[in-house]
Amino acid sequence: MSTITTEQMRFWSPEVRELEPYVPGEQPKIQNLLKLNTNENPYPPSPKVVQAVQAVLANSADVLRLYPDPDALALKQAIAKQQQVDVSHVFVGNGSDEVLAHIFKAFFVQELPVLYPDITYSFYPVYSQFFGVKTKVLPLNDDFEIVVDDYKQANGGIIITNPNAPTSIALGLSAIEKVLQANPNSVVVIDEAYVDFGAESAVNLVEKYDNLVVCQTTSKSRSLAGLRVGFAIAQPHLIAALEAVKNSFNSYPIDRFAIAAAVASFEDQEYFEAQNEKVIASREKLVAQLVELGFKVLPSSANFIFASLADKDAAELAAELRERGIIVRYFNKPRINQFLRITIGTDEQNQRLVNTLKNDILL
Ligand SMILES: *Cc1c(COP(=O)(O)O)cnc(C)c1O
Repeated sequence: MSTITTEQMRFWSPEVRELEPYVPGEQPKIQNLLKLNTNENPYPPSPKVVQAVQAVLANSADVLRLYPDPDALALKQAIAKQQQVDVSHVFVGNGSDEVLAHIFKAFFVQELPVLYPDITYSFYPVYSQFFGVKTKVLPLNDDFEIVVDDYKQANGGIIITNPNAPTSIALGLSAIEKVLQANPNSVVVIDEAYVDFGAESAVNLVEKYDNLVVCQTTSKSRSLAGLRVGFAIAQPHLIAALEAVKNSFNSYPIDRFAIAAAVASFEDQEYFEAQNEKVIASREKLVAQLVELGFKVLPSSANFIFASLADKDAAELAAELRERGIIVRYFNKPRINQFLRITIGTDEQNQRLVNTLKNDILL
C-alpha cells in the first residue's frame, strides 16, 4: 500500500482512500515454523470431509461448470440438524467474517450507535467504518470482563464475542439473557467463533428472543479455516434480512467443494467432540505450565489463551519467540499491549513453546 502515490489514488473512490482495513495474522513460510498466531486447529478435519471433497473432485468434469446451489440448502440442513433448529433459522456465508459483514449491513446501519467492548474482535471497527455504522465502545472491567449493566442504554445494536477474543473469557447465558431482555428493540449478535471450546452457546435462546442472532464458524473447532464457511442462527424474520443483503452482494458465496466438505463435517459429530476435548485438555496442561513459569493467564474457554509476564515486555517476548520459529499474536493496543495471544497447539507443539521459554528465553 505504501508504494501507491496520492496521484495514483485519484482513481480510488473517496471513501476507499479513508479505509483502515483489518490486518490478518501473518501466514509466513518459514521452515519448522510453529504457528500459534491465528487460532487455527492443530488437527486435521474429519476424514469424512476429505472423502467428501474427493467425491466432488471425482465428478468435477460434470459439476464444476455448473453454479453451486445459491441457497446451499444441503449445508443449511446439516447445520440445522446438528444445532437442533429448523432450517428456516439458518444463514450461511463465505466464512463467518462474511456473515458478520452482512449482519452489520442488515441490522446495524442505524441512527443510534452499535455497542461493543473496547477489547474484542478487531474486525468490528473495520466493518463499522466500511458500512458507516456508528459505534460506542464500552470498556471491559479491570478483569477484562463485560459489564452487563453498560448494555442497558439506547443503541442501534449490540455485538458481543463469546468467548471474547482476544481475552478468551466466556460470558454466561444468564448475562446474555439480561442483555437480550434490556434491548427488545435492538438486534443482539453473539459471535461464537470459539464457543465449542468450553462456553455455553446462545443457540438455545433463539426461539425465545426475536432479537438474537448467533454467529459461528467452521474455521476453528472444525479445522476448516481453509474452506471459508460460517453461519448464523436466528428467527426467520432476521434470516430474511441477511438473505436480502447476501443476494444483493454475491448469490453464490459457497462453492461446491465447501458445501460438500462442510456437510460432512457437521455429520461427523463424534470426531468433532473428540477433537475439541483434545484441544481443551491440551489448553489446561499448557496453562498450568505457563503459570509455573510465572505467567498470568486469563481464564480461557477458547482454543487460545491470553497471557502476560510481569517482568518481560510482551512485544520483546513475541520477537524472541519469533526468532526461534514460534509465532504468537501480539496486539500493540492500549490495555492489552503486555499480553500475548497464544493458540493451543498439539501437546508436542505446546511443549516446544514451553521448552523454548524455559530453556532459552527466560533463563
Ligand atoms: C476467527 C473469527 C471469526 C472469523 O471466522 P471465519 O469464519 O474464518 O471468517 C469471526 N469472529 C471471531 C471472533 C473470530 O475469532
